[in-house]
Amino acid sequence: MKNILFICIDGVGDEYINDLMGTPLEYISSDLDNLNKMVREGICGLHWPVKPGIPPSSDKAHLSLFGYDIEKHSIGRGVFEALGAGLDLEEDEIAFRTNFATVEEKNNNLIVRDRRAGRIKNKDVKQLSDAVRKEIKNMKEKIEFKHTVEHRGVLTIKGNSFSPEVTDIDPHQVGVPLLSPQPLERISKEEKEEAEKTCKVLKKVFKSVYQVLKQHPTNEKRKEEGKKPANALMARGGGTIKNLPSFKEKWGLKAGYTAEAALYKGIAKSVGMKPLNVKEKLDFSGKNEKERTKKALIALKDDFDFIFLHIKLSDNFSHSKKPKKNAEFLKNLDKIFEPLLKEEDLLVILTGDHSSSSKRGRHISLPVPLLYWGDGPRDRCETFTEGEIADKGGIGIIRGKYIMPIALDLADRAEELGIRTHPSLPLYKKLGKEYFEIH
Ligand code: ZN
Ligand code: ZN
Repeated sequence: MKNILFICIDGVGDEYINDLMGTPLEYISSDLDNLNKMVREGICGLHWPVKPGIPPSSDKAHLSLFGYDIEKHSIGRGVFEALGAGLDLEEDEIAFRTNFATVEEKNNNLIVRDRRAGRIKNKDVKQLSDAVRKEIKNMKEKIEFKHTVEHRGVLTIKGNSFSPEVTDIDPHQVGVPLLSPQPLERISKEEKEEAEKTCKVLKKVFKSVYQVLKQHPTNEKRKEEGKKPANALMARGGGTIKNLPSFKEKWGLKAGYTAEAALYKGIAKSVGMKPLNVKEKLDFSGKNEKERTKKALIALKDDFDFIFLHIKLSDNFSHSKKPKKNAEFLKNLDKIFEPLLKEEDLLVILTGDHSSSSKRGRHISLPVPLLYWGDGPRDRCETFTEGEIADKGGIGIIRGKYIMPIALDLADRAEELGIRTHPSLPLYKKLGKEYFEIH
């Protein structure tokens, strides 16, 4: 059996860029000596992270890549924000991601002027967060608010009779009114009552918090200084960790993670992965990523069967429409593959959570390059590039949720269909605990 290193380069995979006469991966492909070697020794494919035609958010895409049914689990951004910020969530808690925002009253509505309140930070955001906490403390429901970074925060509601299946207050646009939360249509009648109750609480919290923030001295001061007031708290992405099986239960793997940003730490934590003890920072030079790769290899020898290693910068360059910069970064990243090439008994999965277009500055639905390496099957691909993999990739094109089952098989950990050695029929090799007794 092999251990597995899953390297995710966020948003890797792009579309044709005129200036580069190809995608960033294609533009730089002849300079990636280590990666090209792995490609020649491995097998490639493309994946639709969720489904064809759906450009996914990073959180939904990651869960899908980890093999979870994202339509079944209502695990929203709020959960990842909470876990990533170091909070522990109970099964009966629902969490919403929040933004401090700037709104303006107009005809009995609140028009969003800035979804991030001028990226408010430091003392200002601390004072306003204290005011929010003070306001919700006296409510009869168990509600908590925690500020995380800049304008971001988490709001949790505890209790069994609430549901995260509600729409966002945040309209995700500026110049339009804030939305009033509604139950989602897809849910059962029973859950609808819980969702209605949740909406009622959210409205109550939102209204009273608005009254407090609107006239808070910190906001008065910000206005005098020509800054945008943070006069509203918008909630979105409600979710819960209820019924989400851990990575260990699902795949039989003792999993660890290393990621630079809170969201990805939160995603990993939500499925029970444990953090590696390494320094993590966004590093254009690729040095920190190489250091983390080396530590991941040590951790795989000592404590874990699986490590998720997340690299964020590539997606940032696509969002800011800098394909050339992205190509340079990918070139710098080639050094992380060097220590891997010497490894035995290791399966490496290299892919991205979705494609990102550096022409449009957003996630797109195009399929994402995928490589499996580790003394296993090979195909005729020679570079890790979208077009070549589409032509010659031995895996073909698959949905993201099959990445893990294929990895288990290539790592000699998959159970053959039809074998029944455990009552729960897991996808990985597992024996039951009831042994035959002779007396
Ligand atoms: Zn992403
Ligand atoms: Zn992104």
